Amino acid sequence: MSNLLGNHWGVDIGGTTTILGYIDNDGYRTVSTLQTIPSEGPEKLLARISRIISNIDDSPVSIGAGIAGLVDRENGVLINSPNLVNWGKFPLRDRLIEMFRCPAVIDNDCNAFAIRAIDSGEIPSDGLSLLITLGTGIGGTIIHRGTILYGTGYAGEFGHMTVNAFGELCQCGSRGCWERYAAAEALVQYFKRAGSDSEHTDPRIITQLAKDGNENALKAF
Ligand SMILES: [Zn+2]
Repeated sequence: MSNLLGNHWGVDIGGTTTILGYIDNDGYRTVSTLQTIPSEGPEKLLARISRIISNIDDSPVSIGAGIAGLVDRENGVLINSPNLVNWGKFPLRDRLIEMFRCPAVIDNDCNAFAIRAIDSGEIPSDGLSLLITLGTGIGGTIIHRGTILYGTGYAGEFGHMTVNAFGELCQCGSRGCWERYAAAEALVQYFKRAGSDSEHTDPRIITQLAKDGNENALKAF
């Protein structure tokens, strides 16, 4: 399936779902959506990613990965992720280079989304924009005049701003973070606490239940 220019691959590693796609002469296409299983660790997920990409493309031109966590972009290392517990520090960029023998770059997933939105003009090239992604957790990016403000590397982590100083403990080590109250994982926790039999752990199902008037789902919201 490779063509003259070859395929540039994109990998979006979220706390619940990982999405693979590539760009070729004809534009972008999503190839596969797989479940992220944080407890199995990064190497097993990489092995699954590798099988899918290798089946389609024997020589990727480049790979870019966005990952839900704090990223040291310069060294291509995942520093820490509240949604990928126990992954610890992981040299994601170098592992991608080793596996696919092509250039690779990694960034925080919300920043990766911002890069694309800046390129496509969805984020204005003047003024200040705040981008927030709602998923398993809450991601954030600050964009000023079309440029991402990285600060010392981790600016814009709105999901880990404290909204309740005496609130719930967060996987990031802090307490009362916004994402403990307003992301998909929080919705599931509220649903369980509302007295649900905890059979449903998919936020989409809980959302549908709320629309149908389910009392516990409405309480969770
Ligand atoms: Zn936090």
